[in-house]
Amino acid sequence: MIAALCWCVMMLPPTTMPGESYRGPVPAMTAGQRAMADRLRATVTELAVDIGERNLRRPDALERAAIAAERYLAESGRPVTRQPYRIAGKPVRNLEIEFAGTESPHEIVVIGAHYDSALGCPAANDNGVAALAELAHTYRGRAFKRTVRLVAFVNEEPPYFQTDAMGSVVYAKRCRERGEDVVAMLSLETIGCYSDAPGSQKYPPPMDRFFPSTGNFIAFVGNVASTPLLKRTVESFRTHAKFPSEGVALPDILVAGGFSDHWAFWQQGYAGLMVTDTAMFRYPHYHEPTDLPDKIDFDRTARVVEGLAATIADLANR
Ligand SMILES: [Zn+2]
Repeated sequence: MIAALCWCVMMLPPTTMPGESYRGPVPAMTAGQRAMADRLRATVTELAVDIGERNLRRPDALERAAIAAERYLAESGRPVTRQPYRIAGKPVRNLEIEFAGTESPHEIVVIGAHYDSALGCPAANDNGVAALAELAHTYRGRAFKRTVRLVAFVNEEPPYFQTDAMGSVVYAKRCRERGEDVVAMLSLETIGCYSDAPGSQKYPPPMDRFFPSTGNFIAFVGNVASTPLLKRTVESFRTHAKFPSEGVALPDILVAGGFSDHWAFWQQGYAGLMVTDTAMFRYPHYHEPTDLPDKIDFDRTARVVEGLAATIADLANR
């Protein structure tokens, strides 16, 4: 309640985003989008069904997920680098590929997703790695003015969330220690649930007063300090994708805004966003054993990921 009041005081009305959310009928799927939807289904099925729950409670499954993520990232044609560390004596690792920038290589765009899952959850939707795999595939042979890194993080989920054992915390600290200029970080989160049913979208109050009640959009969520990046990202996505979108900058006191790996970059003073279907505010299977591929709208996910690929390239070519 206190958080909601603070948001009212600080954020009424919410910061206006550039451009307009797409309205009207979505165009027919292109051949490229259809192929991407098929690949997304295969990736999500491998992680959520063949491997299933993947975390340090099931270390063999976590290792299989890490090996799968390495294979997805290698689709880029770039070498996959491991960032190993230990938690209570157990080895874990983040995984990374890099496209060195051609004009401003010291300016780094980090796109991340976590490959672990919550306890008891197969995480079909809670699985940004599937989108990360599509970016690796799409960017094969590409070059960007700024450096682009695609990173698969371990240990995003509880009990590691927002602790020193969280993969993105380890990674973001290393960025700061190296003095790296991370100009943008996007965390790909749950992005597979969409509905055209009125009332399908819920919010923590008071956001329900300002945002749509139909859960058919992709959301970009940042903190106030990340507002310039948020606006650039939303503007670019709206230019490149015929898909409904919303953007919001939340004060840090609203903890839901920090529910992913971008939070780790905020702690190091970097700008970061989460790309999300809003998770538990739309998706009833969030962190449940029922988060399975049959709940995922792969066609709409492909439309979103295609738009993200163009948006990220835009951020990386400024
Ligand atoms: Zn999760």
